[in-house]
Amino acid sequence: MNRSTDILVVGGGLNGPALALALAQAGFPVTVIDALAEDTRKDAGFDGRAYALALASQRLLSAIGVWEAVADEAQPMLEIKVSDGRAGEGPSPFFLHFDHGEIEEGPMGYMVEDRHLRRAFLDAMDASPLITQVNGSRVVGQHGTPGGVSVDLDNGDRLDGALLVGCDGRLSGTASRAGIRRTGWDYGQTALVCAISHEMPHEGIAHQFFMPPGPLAILPLTGNRSSIVWSERTAEALRINALDDAGYLEMLRPRFGDFLGEIGLAGARFTYPLGLSLANSFIGERLALVGDAAHGVHPIAGQGLNAGLRDVAALAEVLADASRRGEDMGGRQVLERYQQWRRFDTATLALATDAFNRLFSNDNPLLRLGRDIGMGLVNAAPALRRTFIREAAGLTGDLPRLMQGKRV
Ligand SMILES: Cc1cc2nc3c(=O)[nH]c(=O)nc-3n(C[C@H](O)[C@H](O)[C@H](O)COP(=O)(O)OP(=O)(O)OC[C@H]3O[C@@H](n4cnc5c(N)ncnc54)[C@H](O)[C@@H]3O)c2cc1C
Repeated sequence: MNRSTDILVVGGGLNGPALALALAQAGFPVTVIDALAEDTRKDAGFDGRAYALALASQRLLSAIGVWEAVADEAQPMLEIKVSDGRAGEGPSPFFLHFDHGEIEEGPMGYMVEDRHLRRAFLDAMDASPLITQVNGSRVVGQHGTPGGVSVDLDNGDRLDGALLVGCDGRLSGTASRAGIRRTGWDYGQTALVCAISHEMPHEGIAHQFFMPPGPLAILPLTGNRSSIVWSERTAEALRINALDDAGYLEMLRPRFGDFLGEIGLAGARFTYPLGLSLANSFIGERLALVGDAAHGVHPIAGQGLNAGLRDVAALAEVLADASRRGEDMGGRQVLERYQQWRRFDTATLALATDAFNRLFSNDNPLLRLGRDIGMGLVNAAPALRRTFIREAAGLTGDLPRLMQGKRV
């Protein structure tokens, strides 16, 4: 049953469920619509990514009741090592080293595999009496109604609500149907992603090697396993992905190095084309955009989902406060508060990740020298190092209540 008071959330990926759970905690009835069936999304082989979740995101997941279900599968991130590299040469002598011991709060974050996180979100939504899920139906239209909004589904149904939130990813139909344009480009890079098993323990250390075609991230998972996000020029990535497992590992070994001993594949292989896609506005008439629908960024800093979860926490807080004050939660003034809170931060993130990718994904000797000196300088300055660690942990800026571990 859909009531005209519901908040309609288009997209039950990761940010959609997080938002629905946060809004339900604040007492709002929510309807979440996803084009894919629940079983498809719950399948362990649906998505091969593992996410570096900042400490602030972990606090949000805990506050909305999802963390307990993934805690046993989460690997704390204790250190991050960043260096330049070339296949077969190993890391350069200049590097950045961030250690969680330099801040008081604990690990900088946790690595959680998509298969665990997605299932935990879907199970938590199933258990919430305030959340209605419409799975396997695509939203194909949206309209303003007197004091509300409605969406049309591809099966001919129409759902009414008080506010529409687009959590429908970087190709957001919710945004385009509302006439919201996007700024962005393709990086010409594709990320090869898989889980790797290795002989030696990773000790909770995440590594980022900046290779000329793109970064290689080696991110610690539970046990002697790591997730790799290996960016290559797209044609080369597709060529490598077409190799059999032995050929794939042969390409990976000189890039990965031998610091963790012998490596093997620990699951299926996936590819993700990389691009930037920033919505020119995060709000419209009774409409807000959240997550990749608002800002799809390069995964170089592992911040896309973290930024989306910060949108979730900010929007839920703005709407809960508006409701307590008796304001119309779909009103322009209320939605402007959300946009003001999030738009500048996410545009800055998009530009920073774009600039990092351009600066590091090349073999220009002058740039290489400049960035190596830069990394050496930051590494030698404890105050700067601590600032980066707090940034990576998501502890800087105007933190919404859910990211402080409080209720919305
Ligand atoms: C290789 C890689 C590694 C990454 N690593 C990290 C990391 O370590 N840390 C981090 O913070 N971020 C990371 N990210 C970013 C992160 O994956 C994304 O930010 C996140 O998945 C976005 O989630 P979302 O819910 O906003 O969108 P999506 O996951 O795209 O979900 C959108 C949902 O909307 C549904 N949908 C779309 N259109 C319709 C419609 N018309 N009707 C109904 N439903 C619809 C889709 O079925 C889908 O379920 C990474 C990204 C990549 C590519």
